[in-house]
Amino acid sequence: MKKHNFFAGPAILPEIVKKNASKAALNYKNKGLSLMEMSHRGPEIVSIMETAESLVRELLNVSDKYAVLFLTGGASSQFFMSAMNLFKAKDKVAYLNTGTWSTKAIKEAKHYGDLYEVASSKDKNFNYIPRNFKLKGGTKFLHVTSNNTIFGTQIKTFPKTKALMIADMSSDIFSRPIKVDDYGLIYAGAQKNVGLAGVTLVIVRKNLLGKTGRHIPTMLDYQTHIAKNSAFNTPPVFPIYTTMLNLQWIKAKGGIKAMAKRNKEKANLLYSEIDANPLFVGTTAKRDRSHMNVTFLLKDEKLNKKFLTKCKKAGIVGIKGHRSVGGFRASMYNAMELSSVKALVKVMKSM
Ligand SMILES: *Cc1c(COP(=O)(O)O)cnc(C)c1O
Repeated sequence: MKKHNFFAGPAILPEIVKKNASKAALNYKNKGLSLMEMSHRGPEIVSIMETAESLVRELLNVSDKYAVLFLTGGASSQFFMSAMNLFKAKDKVAYLNTGTWSTKAIKEAKHYGDLYEVASSKDKNFNYIPRNFKLKGGTKFLHVTSNNTIFGTQIKTFPKTKALMIADMSSDIFSRPIKVDDYGLIYAGAQKNVGLAGVTLVIVRKNLLGKTGRHIPTMLDYQTHIAKNSAFNTPPVFPIYTTMLNLQWIKAKGGIKAMAKRNKEKANLLYSEIDANPLFVGTTAKRDRSHMNVTFLLKDEKLNKKFLTKCKKAGIVGIKGHRSVGGFRASMYNAMELSSVKALVKVMKSM
């Protein structure tokens, strides 16, 4: 039976990506070796890394001022690595706290700069994005989480500020157009909307680096990885290959604008049902509703079990909400087809 994969991450991949990754796992381009068995210094892998980088640049319109890196350690390592590489100890840096991931980023980054929380939506269990906050004069960077995977909110209009933004885009990169020039650094764990766990994408403005005055361990210094094209040590080749395949798929589908249109269509369908169906209620402020992770509740909790059973029968997986919100969460990344959202809506209508 066809499964409808609504997991938040690791998450759904396009069929063609899985098919081609499987082929490469057994016998890469008929060379008699698995991609997993090949030297990362060989021409095949070097070419994969170059293709992946050029697709990132093409799809997001990344200029030469920026380096594109494929690192390890997950988005969680970028919480401290971004701060360690960009902030001088006395730099004023603002963090917008919109959920679990922002909170974790603050915890790690505060050791490297004069960090303050500029606004927070903790007062309402992070169910909205704060607006109209003012940065302190002289603030150098503003860190934001573009999409809050757990709570189901998404920044729709990025704040206009003099500070350069640093963004955790782990769960919505490549889902909609962005203006890279507004950012000092963008990072994203690949396992939500890009590819497999094991690789983290970093896009960093090169002229910001090497200015902190602090010692940075070799492996944690972006400049190390820039100098060696993300192959200073053995890179996670297979996750990078899967990322490359996924970016090729995005390009073939019409690029980022086409993804945004597709994601909007899916989100509109599901949110309309949540609003129209008297049994369900959304958990976030309407104007901040994420197109990637849709969080909702059954008004009568006693129906939860019945709903989950019906979902299971329809092949719907990964719908259970995160423990900090409860209820349900439908993650609908790029790879999800509209037909899967229709399957979920059908179950909701049948309750
Ligand atoms: C999942 C997630 C992370 C953590 O990513 P890891 O790669 O597991 O470290 C960080 N930020 C956001 C927004 C996420 O969704």
